[in-house]
Amino acid sequence: MLMADMTWNEVEKYILKVNNNLTIPVGTCEQHGYHLPLDNDIFIVEYIANILSLETNALVAPTIKYGVNLPCDVHLAGTTSVKPKTLTEIITSITNWWKQQGIKHFLLLTYHGDPYHIQAMKKISDDIKLYDVSEIKYSDILEKQSSIRHACEAETSVALYLYPGKVKMKSVREHDIQPDDFKEYLFHKESNIPQGYVGCLGYPSVATKDKGNRIINRMLDSTINACYDFLKPL
Ligand SMILES: [Zn+2]
Repeated sequence: MLMADMTWNEVEKYILKVNNNLTIPVGTCEQHGYHLPLDNDIFIVEYIANILSLETNALVAPTIKYGVNLPCDVHLAGTTSVKPKTLTEIITSITNWWKQQGIKHFLLLTYHGDPYHIQAMKKISDDIKLYDVSEIKYSDILEKQSSIRHACEAETSVALYLYPGKVKMKSVREHDIQPDDFKEYLFHKESNIPQGYVGCLGYPSVATKDKGNRIINRMLDSTINACYDFLKPL
């Protein structure tokens, strides 16, 4: 149930009678190579948030569409980042309003592993829980990767399953940079663009819809497991 589709008095009644917890999807506006759209992380996190809402009856808040991105991605047009402290401040501000309206627990759902993005949302307060839906085991599903990278075999498979019409498989350019060689970029120490990098890491060319289906099911199971009690109805 999307809070933004309701009137204020419906929201008031819902908080009192059905469920007084809230999921807040947190996206990023971020490049995903030549083959996936900027909104990729938002599509996925909203999909998971909606199913979680069906399971728990918890309302879903309007998505926070900006997160923290790698400084090197400023060179890839459209990518838009906020500072970590800005993200923390937005979350603190909006949850303070909702607390006054009776919301008890806030679940921040994200699908973006930038360490500073995660740090900005971790441990804001006891009533705000962060869950990164990308944190599942991938090794038995993927062929060429053992874990998730970026716009990679895993992310592209999920996109092929959820929104195939927006995936440009013919435009895939693989330019793998090993995790150790990417550390400087990942921890925001290097803001130049790696040579030959078009925005993806790993092996998107071997992505399939079937792998995406298995990944999404696993994400749903682990999210429901980890978050059900926090969101459970009155
Ligand atoms: Zn992504």
